[in-house]
Amino acid sequence: MKLIEHLVAGKAWRGKSERTADIINPALGKSIGKVRLATKEDVDAVLEVARKAQPKWAATPPAKRAAVMFAFRDLLNKHMDELAQTLSEEHGKTIPDAKGEIARGIEVIEFACGIPHLLKGEFSEQVASQIDSFSIRQPVGVVAGITPFNFPAMVPLWMYPIALACGNAFVLKPSERDPSVPVRVGQLLQEAGLPEGVFSVVNGDKEAVDALLDSPHVDAVSFVGSTAIGHYIYSRGTAAGKRVQALCGAKNHLIVLPDADMDKAVDALIGSAFGSAGERCMAISVAVPVGEDTADRLVAALKPRIEALKVAACSDPNSDMGPVISRQSLDRILSYIDQGLEKGAKLIVDGRSVKVSGHEDGYFIGGCLFDRVTTDMSIYKEEIFGPVLAVVRAKDYEEALQMVNDHEYGNGTAIFTRDGDAARDFTMRVKIGMVGVNVPIPVPVAYFSFGGWKRSLFGDHSIHGMEGVRFNTRLKTITTRWPSGIKEGAVFNFHSGHDTKA
Ligand code: NAD
Repeated sequence: MKLIEHLVAGKAWRGKSERTADIINPALGKSIGKVRLATKEDVDAVLEVARKAQPKWAATPPAKRAAVMFAFRDLLNKHMDELAQTLSEEHGKTIPDAKGEIARGIEVIEFACGIPHLLKGEFSEQVASQIDSFSIRQPVGVVAGITPFNFPAMVPLWMYPIALACGNAFVLKPSERDPSVPVRVGQLLQEAGLPEGVFSVVNGDKEAVDALLDSPHVDAVSFVGSTAIGHYIYSRGTAAGKRVQALCGAKNHLIVLPDADMDKAVDALIGSAFGSAGERCMAISVAVPVGEDTADRLVAALKPRIEALKVAACSDPNSDMGPVISRQSLDRILSYIDQGLEKGAKLIVDGRSVKVSGHEDGYFIGGCLFDRVTTDMSIYKEEIFGPVLAVVRAKDYEEALQMVNDHEYGNGTAIFTRDGDAARDFTMRVKIGMVGVNVPIPVPVAYFSFGGWKRSLFGDHSIHGMEGVRFNTRLKTITTRWPSGIKEGAVFNFHSGHDTKA
């Protein structure tokens, strides 16, 4: 059985902790290894390494920092198969899904390769007589990243390629449930030529997170995970004077207008609600057909498609959907289905009886479809984070829009329609961070920024794109006065770089 240690200076580092947690293969429901859980002392030791390494890295020309990112990108492409295999074993998602998330992470590295251009400041000549002004962006120092289980490759890569390219040191605390890929990717980063100590992975749970939040050696914290924990991290981190961005939970609605291309809307819902077993913060978990006729057509078309989804382990190349991450998560999803039934929602497709041969102890559940869900039900209000799609029927477009705007989460949403006027109205008036028109999961490409509104994001900055550069740097504005013109008789000594004249 493997034992995943921390990663410091590119090497496994044990620390002093005796505590470990099991790494479970969710398709088998059994432990396949252990991960070390850091103590506060371990975290402090890793931060000391980062703090010492950071100034030299910050002084390295941006083009040289970018060169590391170019090499890192190539190494990830080279190791794609190995990484996807490990990722699927620990997370449960299919191999194409695992490769897809690594590819999206690589796109952020490619964005970070442009850091010399991205860090270019602004300059104004002659803001007053003989006075020029310019602004530059400098690294914040040591940045900590705390990441969730559902994208163990992509979400850390949303953070540290940009943080590092900006000249920061970075300490990653990945989810303890699937830590092997973040550690392996960290080794590849070292291989790409990053100086030792600039990047570390510290594994752990609440004790490690609290140590990062409280340490005076952490200047900024990027968090991605659930809303309850994100709010805690934002409150505790900012109280300690740190810059914090916390990207959190979601309940994403897809509105289907009567004129929508129904086949395309159904395709979109199948992929976005059931891909990765619904364990995506941009998963669509609520479909809002407008009008009874649209709703009847939508539910009738969804039913056979959901029933046909193949639920299987990632080792089966025909699998559409793997298991969910843990027994606790499966129990939580089952309890939500009970709550929906108790409140009178109609369970049109019931995935609870799904069995996967040879994987009887795995945490599998088939796709579920609820119709006649109302906005007062817990299955509508709360994030289930599983393959459960709720249909909430709206009488008209205004009611559908209001529903999205009234929800406490504001991560993503989409509208399916052929009407450009309606689509434009929706994109302008909806209170959501990422909006799709006939695009079900409007995840921005790496050079735009990812982030929600309302209780889906605490802090001022979204992640990656220019917002990532802004989060990971501090702005400095410099005003200079130099006498104009070169006076007759002035002597400039250019060869030594020092003026030897008194
Ligand atoms: P989680 O909040 O349980 O864990 C996230 C991180 O916080 C992990 O590293 C974990 O070790 C740490 N953590 C857990 N409990 C803690 C505690 N009590 N104190 C301090 N740290 C703690 O989230 P998860 O279950 O791993 O991931 C799923 C959640 O992440 C979902 O809510 C999903 O919507 C969200 N998510 C959001 C985005 C986004 O961009 N908005 C992206 C991916 C996932």
